[in-house]
Amino acid sequence: MTRFIFVTGGVVSSLGKGLASAALGALLQARGYKVRLRKLDPYLNVDPGTMSPYQHGEVYVTDDGAETDLDLGHYERFTGVPARQSDSVTTGRIYGDIIGKERRGDYLGATVQVIPHVTDAIKKFVLADTDGHDFVLCEIGGTVGDIEGQPFLEAIRQLRNDLGAARTAYVHLTLVPYIPSAGELKTKPTQHSVKELRSIGIQPDVLLCRCDREIPESEKRKIALFCNVRNENVITALDVGTIYEVPLRYHEQGFDEVVLRAFGIDNAPAPDLSVWQNIVRHVKEPEGEVTIAVVGKYTGMKDAYKSLNEALVHGGIANNVKLNVEWVDAEIFEAEDPVQKLHDVHGILVPGGFGERGTEGKIAAARVARERNIPYFGICLGMQMAVIEAARHLAGIDGAGSSEFPNCKVPVVGMMTEWLRGNELEKRRQGGDLGGTMRLGEYPCDLMPRTRARAVYGAERIMERHRHRYEINTQFQPQLEKAGLVFSGMSPDRTLPEIVEIPEHPWFVGVQFHPELKSKPFEPHPLFASFVEAAVKQSRLV
Ligand code: GLN
Repeated sequence: MTRFIFVTGGVVSSLGKGLASAALGALLQARGYKVRLRKLDPYLNVDPGTMSPYQHGEVYVTDDGAETDLDLGHYERFTGVPARQSDSVTTGRIYGDIIGKERRGDYLGATVQVIPHVTDAIKKFVLADTDGHDFVLCEIGGTVGDIEGQPFLEAIRQLRNDLGAARTAYVHLTLVPYIPSAGELKTKPTQHSVKELRSIGIQPDVLLCRCDREIPESEKRKIALFCNVRNENVITALDVGTIYEVPLRYHEQGFDEVVLRAFGIDNAPAPDLSVWQNIVRHVKEPEGEVTIAVVGKYTGMKDAYKSLNEALVHGGIANNVKLNVEWVDAEIFEAEDPVQKLHDVHGILVPGGFGERGTEGKIAAARVARERNIPYFGICLGMQMAVIEAARHLAGIDGAGSSEFPNCKVPVVGMMTEWLRGNELEKRRQGGDLGGTMRLGEYPCDLMPRTRARAVYGAERIMERHRHRYEINTQFQPQLEKAGLVFSGMSPDRTLPEIVEIPEHPWFVGVQFHPELKSKPFEPHPLFASFVEAAVKQSRLV
């Protein structure tokens, strides 16, 4: 029997609902349950694929090629369960489907309405593709009281009637602020937010209260009384030093236990939390530290590089070192010499990105890394920039560039108009729609013998996730390889370069895919582990 846990948020946004859901998923999994996590986002975009990283943070890509909310990254990092297209939905997608059906006449003359048509579509999404799971956790984006969120709340309200109380539980995340001038914790915002939920017919079972200090019993009793929940179901969610501590702290507070009890389960096996204890020990007691410069475009918005930042932390865990990340805006290198800033870092990483702004700065950063033997990791755009740099300065191809940018003279990086996915041909047009027209999701890559890539992965074929329009042009492969840039990973049909490396360099690797999306704290991605290992070696030299 699949049970459903609905996670809503109140008072303010950014309380960490995604993390809370992910940590609860991890705790249930640690008790032996099979879990799946999904996100319902009330905005009108069909998916976050076309949204600016400044506004919405990173776009998380799934194996099956969906462009989703970054919370799905948390889910995967905490549970190891690969997210799917069916784990992410938005108002835009729901309405798109409904309007398509209406135009086809599928509603047989009925007036199409929010209730029941939109709510039915939401419920269908919640219930789909859940076979074999013990718990499905559904996080509702936004904050209770938002206009856009109403159909979603209405749908999950109906689900309690449809499925019964034994198969549904509502967890509500709120904020209990401390007011220094009064010297008091305030429960009123929580009371109001629960009142709002109850006014639409949802009585939360468990309240998870974010607070910068332990909430005293007297205050918990007050919250319980006003919000109509049991005393022990008011849980303090304390701020913590590392996000990987969240499952442990929640468990100490009894969170997973009260959630299970809300379903009438009081004999669940105790969780095995050794994995999380291990991770936290590595993060909190490192044996050294290294500094990595991330030369990117969206450096002012940390959420834009969420998975990347976590993957670097995982690389640190693998090597038992603390990772200091220096976020550097690539654009500054268009005016100033990058050597000043980069000569003493232990590794340089150029991440993915779109558009021309800052690209000459990224090329300059790749050059410093190559010429000064500083470990370099180029991801997607970061690989393309490293290839352009090598083309210009190693292979002597003047004007080498990418056709993504105006006035490109020699397209060493260009747009492929068709490529294979399995046995199917995928096509793309210049000037087509921006949304959903990229090479997206998981593709195989063959690793060439006697290369670093092959050694790092210890495999001949790997699968990695993609999100890009442009590819390295294989026409230039012979010239580039002669100049010292080896194509060490290729698509099985050898048309799409996936990995390049410089064998003469201590660690210089560019990948066309996004390895950061697959890294987990309990299973650091091999490339990140190896890159940080190289950075540790570098730190002993400088
Ligand atoms: N803009 C580049 C492309 O579309 C790189 C994309 C990326 O870094 N994710 O190919």
